[in-house]
Amino acid sequence: MAIIILVGPPGAGKGTQAARLVEQYGFAWVSTGDTLRQNIKSNTLLGQKARSYMDAGKLVPDDLLVDMLKAELSNHPKKVTLLDGYPRNAVQAETLSGLGELGAVRLALHLDVPASILSSRISKRSAEEGRSDDTPEKLKVRLDVYEKETFPILNYYKKKNLYARVDADASMETVYSRIQEVLTKATLI
Ligand code: ADP
Repeated sequence: MAIIILVGPPGAGKGTQAARLVEQYGFAWVSTGDTLRQNIKSNTLLGQKARSYMDAGKLVPDDLLVDMLKAELSNHPKKVTLLDGYPRNAVQAETLSGLGELGAVRLALHLDVPASILSSRISKRSAEEGRSDDTPEKLKVRLDVYEKETFPILNYYKKKNLYARVDADASMETVYSRIQEVLTKATLI
């Protein structure tokens, strides 16, 4: 199975763009954030363990996520899977490349947005969805985590020639067509 990983800071629009791609191209979609929130809602053991990290805007420990990731990836025996929210650090990038039988990363799609515009996007989402990690203080923690831990993994994919950047500081429509261009070039659509 081919995997497209979506990488970008909180508020970059990963979920919005993923939903459109799923609708238009029938991709499978795995969102670790959404799956973790479902686990919290259903009060599973994983949900109970993950909750405090998520509420604080911190990363959930890597070892808690491996089984969840494997299950999610094997749930979707479709051709192309969008992986949204994973990997978020170097250890997770290695974990993912070790899951060869479940899928190989074909592209790391970087939705690049300047930090300065993220807070207004997120406060809007916070008002609409009421997510407990969308407050300004927690956003700051999540942005910090992104810059220190997640952003550097893009280099890992650059070295493997799997990196593509999309300037995501534009309307949803424009960003979507930029993504389509990149996916066309990579012969994924
Ligand atoms: P966003 O991309 O807007 O920050 P997500 O919905 O992807 O939000 O993730 C929300 C929270 O879920 C993260 O802040 C983190 O606590 C947890 N989480 C999601 N994916 C991972 C992951 N791969 N590793 C560790 N924690 C994760």
